[in-house]
Amino acid sequence: MDFKFTEEQDFFRSAVRDAVDRLIRPRTQEIDETDEFPMDLWKEFAELGYLGIRHPEKYGGLDVDVITSMIFYEELARGSCGFSMSVTMQILMGTYFIGRFGTEEIKQRVLVPAIKGEKIGTICFTEDQSGSDLAGTRTTAVKKDGGWVINGRKMWITCGPICDFCTVLATTDPEKGLDGLSFFLVEKGTEGFSTGQKIKKLGSRGSVTGELIFDNVRVPEENLLGEGPGNGVKYTTDILNEVRVMTALNACAIANEAMCDARKYAREREAFGKPIAKYQLIRAKFANHWARYEAARLFAYKAAWMIREGMDCQYECMLAKMLATEMCISAVDEASRIYGGNSFAMEYPQQRYFRDARFLLFGGGCHEVLQNALGAAYLRKAH
Ligand SMILES: Cc1cc2nc3c(=O)[nH]c(=O)nc-3n(C[C@H](O)[C@H](O)[C@H](O)COP(=O)(O)OP(=O)(O)OC[C@H]3O[C@@H](n4cnc5c(N)ncnc54)[C@H](O)[C@@H]3O)c2cc1C
Repeated sequence: MDFKFTEEQDFFRSAVRDAVDRLIRPRTQEIDETDEFPMDLWKEFAELGYLGIRHPEKYGGLDVDVITSMIFYEELARGSCGFSMSVTMQILMGTYFIGRFGTEEIKQRVLVPAIKGEKIGTICFTEDQSGSDLAGTRTTAVKKDGGWVINGRKMWITCGPICDFCTVLATTDPEKGLDGLSFFLVEKGTEGFSTGQKIKKLGSRGSVTGELIFDNVRVPEENLLGEGPGNGVKYTTDILNEVRVMTALNACAIANEAMCDARKYAREREAFGKPIAKYQLIRAKFANHWARYEAARLFAYKAAWMIREGMDCQYECMLAKMLATEMCISAVDEASRIYGGNSFAMEYPQQRYFRDARFLLFGGGCHEVLQNALGAAYLRKAH
């Protein structure tokens, strides 16, 4: 066994860390307070090549392996949760199906500018009435005149209000449920495609989330992404493993930030004549966090390694996400207790970690839905 990152990966981590420290961290509070998408940062991260981290070099990407990409996501989440969410959306879901299934012409028109930071992309699964349960998708795509006509509304779409293109999950055959779902590329400017309300969010601010409306939107045949129709769910599971491990490493980063700040605070804050760091109950919080954090982070990288090795690892990726999310929710809670009343003050960062961490419970699959799947899988196991 080998638990070391390679020299190249260590070097890559330092480069990302430097960019995050220099470009994002001085702006973290501003992004959270204004809830505005930082377009200038987006362009800078594109120039550094990071928006094409998993795409082939011939389209302008860096084409790094899964583990290296996870290093990027972990470091990125040390900056701003909202910005990190927009970037990971673009890389992992916003452009994934286009890179995998788009025609060469679509790749040149959509993927290449997306990697350059000239276009923003997103994915649309969720609707008002259906989130976890994709079989409840009501957006329809009907074949007409050699193309497709899409009708429906999507909710909670990251970068929705500012996106230049999106990959939309729609049903081509409502009677088939999950087997009737397909992905379609829809670009800004297409007649009938518009943005609805922007959602005011608790956390992950700066990612600009909202509703997208499809009113008789006509797209050509080649905008159906992948073989199909009917393979949308199958294709989703192919990328979900990476999304879940990415979410796990986001959780590790937020937890670590919260507890490192709390450590500094505990050393300085005095109560009853000595720093609160001297009290055993406060020390226990750090000890418990340290153990959980190490376990969650190690397991997340193990899951990333399993993806890279091409192993069957859907349950490990779910476990990694569940473990790290729970660890993070507990860490931000404990860290805010250490801050005492000051955890309630907007000038301290604890309230932001506390708010941002809540998203982890839903992104990449709701906690209870993962528990259902994992519990059933565990019960099927022979040993
Ligand atoms: C900040 C943010 C950004 C987002 N960005 C996007 C985006 O870009 N694109 C997109 O498509 N979506 C996006 N979403 C939506 C997100 O994917 C959904 O919130 C998520 O899929 C859960 O769906 P839901 O909110 O409808 O909850 P529901 O599915 O309605 O679940 C509600 C509750 O019921 C539980 N539950 C559901 N089914 C079961 C079950 N079988 N067993 C036990 N419990 C169950 C859930 O765990 C949860 O606790 C975003 C959400 C947020 C908060």
